[in-house]
Amino acid sequence: MENNYEIIFEKVENLENLTPKEKKNLLSLGILTLKDLIYYFPRAYDDRTNIKKIEELRGNEYVVLKVQFLTITNPYLPSRVKMTKARATDGTGVIDVVWFQMPYLAKTLKVGEEYILIGQVKPGYNFQMTNPEYKKVSNQQEVSKGEILPIYSTTKAFTQNSLRKILKKILNNYSKYFYENIPNEIVEKYKILDRKSALKEIHFPENKKLLEEGKRRFAIEELLVLEMGILQNKYVSGNLHERNYKLKDNRNLVKNYLENLGFQLTKAQKKVITEIYKELNEGIYINRLIQGDVGSGKTIVAMVLLLYIIENNYQGVIMAPTEILATQHYLSVKEEFENLGVRVDLLTGSVKGKKKEKLLEDIKNGEAQLLIGTHALIEDNVEFKNLGLIVIDEQHRFGVVQRKKLRDKGILSNLLVMSATPIPRSLALSIYGDLDVSIIDELPPGRKPIKTKWINNDSDLQKVYEFIEKKLKEGRQSYFIVPLIEDSDKISAKSVEEYRVEIENIFFNRKIGILHGKMKNQEKDEIMKQFKNKEIDILLSTTVVEVGVNVPNASIITIINAERFGLSSLHQLRGRVGRGEYQSYCFLISNSDNDNTKARMRIMEKTNDGFEIAEEDLRLRKAGEIFGVKQSGFSDLKFIDITQDVKTIKLVKEICLDYLNKNNGKINNEYLSRDILDKFKESI
Ligand code: ADP
Ligand code: MG
Repeated sequence: MENNYEIIFEKVENLENLTPKEKKNLLSLGILTLKDLIYYFPRAYDDRTNIKKIEELRGNEYVVLKVQFLTITNPYLPSRVKMTKARATDGTGVIDVVWFQMPYLAKTLKVGEEYILIGQVKPGYNFQMTNPEYKKVSNQQEVSKGEILPIYSTTKAFTQNSLRKILKKILNNYSKYFYENIPNEIVEKYKILDRKSALKEIHFPENKKLLEEGKRRFAIEELLVLEMGILQNKYVSGNLHERNYKLKDNRNLVKNYLENLGFQLTKAQKKVITEIYKELNEGIYINRLIQGDVGSGKTIVAMVLLLYIIENNYQGVIMAPTEILATQHYLSVKEEFENLGVRVDLLTGSVKGKKKEKLLEDIKNGEAQLLIGTHALIEDNVEFKNLGLIVIDEQHRFGVVQRKKLRDKGILSNLLVMSATPIPRSLALSIYGDLDVSIIDELPPGRKPIKTKWINNDSDLQKVYEFIEKKLKEGRQSYFIVPLIEDSDKISAKSVEEYRVEIENIFFNRKIGILHGKMKNQEKDEIMKQFKNKEIDILLSTTVVEVGVNVPNASIITIINAERFGLSSLHQLRGRVGRGEYQSYCFLISNSDNDNTKARMRIMEKTNDGFEIAEEDLRLRKAGEIFGVKQSGFSDLKFIDITQDVKTIKLVKEICLDYLNKNNGKINNEYLSRDILDKFKESI
């Protein structure tokens, strides 16, 4: 049999049976291919099978009623508008109905017979309907059949009816090319409605039960394409890398490093390290997400594991999202590592020319042991002699796509991803379908919870300034964070420059440093260094300090126009303080009246727990806005709300794992493989 599967990827403009105008309309909705069209599912249904009782009416709703008329009249109106007035009942209550300009209804509608009325009801002395659709009931069968109509997202110019017509036509002509893309054994085991029937039911449901089965099918299908793609990737690389290295159990470097640290690791840090040691020792390929709240001490966990790898004569890499962070990591370990005889190098976009050539040479011949850097580490032509472990810090800037890129370049061996943004465990397990998850669920001892206060008026703001001055006198340092703003909305938010004037006036005898994204990296590094060395009292910055920056003496952070930040960002920013022994404070400045903003400010005041905040964040935000989700491919799901359907996500993950295990990592359904390719084409 000829395989015509490619037809579903055909461009709309090449489809037969569509007029030029229809094609133009479809393009205007962003429907480019046959697949887009047939997967353009209704956003709702006009469900005429769902008959309401009058006693259940609450007013102002669109309903279907089944009634008998008690009276039908044509009252005379002085305005000469022609009106038909009726009173009807379904045995549970009474409703008044009027039709305008249809006087003949008084003759066609019959008192005492049953009718279906469809339309908007309004509350009044009795409930009322104006100009409802009406339909005589001859028998029950007729009412429940074919009466669930699809409602699509469309424009006024492109009516529901024309879209319905197109979809009917296309389903009739093309559904034969929509072969089953879920492997047979899965279809059978989970009793999944077959693809062709499901397509028909999702657009033009026969009845509610079949509609639900159709929805379930596509929920599973879209997750299956995504998870199968992600997990197959893991399966393949997992097999490639399994037990292909052997580590000695020596941990002299680690021991020396920890002895000079000046503090004990927390239980949680030890637990995660041990967990990973074990996998490394067994030669298992590591692909793991380490989650830990801000300040939980993820960096040290990474450094310990890197040292262990290096002691075994492998190279290690730690990759950060910004130069500031990479430099911070570099400076924080350089001295101690070199005392231990371990060479540390920094590779960022700023390393150029001869210096870079030499470094690349040393990486290739294995002289370079620990490399700390930014994207430059994957984007440049960096060749390693024997890379043993890659750590990606502050994960949310690196999605599935970048991880895949690493893997495709063949420079990925063991991978640890450290997330700065806690997300609920259940969600993490599913979204990062290809990663195992460890959680550091404890902060180093002695940390005092940060006191957070939402400030919404100028007199309180004055008090905040006085408070900050007092703390500066005691020797602390302070952050001020200003949101990044577009030129167009300058009116409502202060820019760094505007705010600088205010701060310089208020704290006139303090040293103030400015940090923003447009500065050269060298300038940024210089400012950070001065802040670390206490040469600067106040750091006024945009969100470039959001992730990872660690200056324990800074104990106050004030966030200007706090309404402009999501909960995750606020929590991240707040995490810049509370990193040392001092009681720390966070002030959120916002006089916004928005309910969602107020909710966020209150959550911040209420808790310091990143996981709790993540849960709240899930409730308040849309899926795509959650860090890391956008890039994961989970944000464009139509049927699955990742904030709600964690159960389905988990189920499908299990289905996929089970399938891949049974089939040795192979997918034996060519249509599914093709759809995976389509799904991941933009990301690769
Ligand atoms: P994050 O998890 O946010 O990346 P860091 O790794 O930057 O946190 O650690 C935050 C601070 O806590 C650093 O100053 C670090 O030296 C310190 N720290 C880490 N672990 C411990 C510990 N077990 N005891 C005391 N301080 C620690
Ligand atoms: Mg960090």
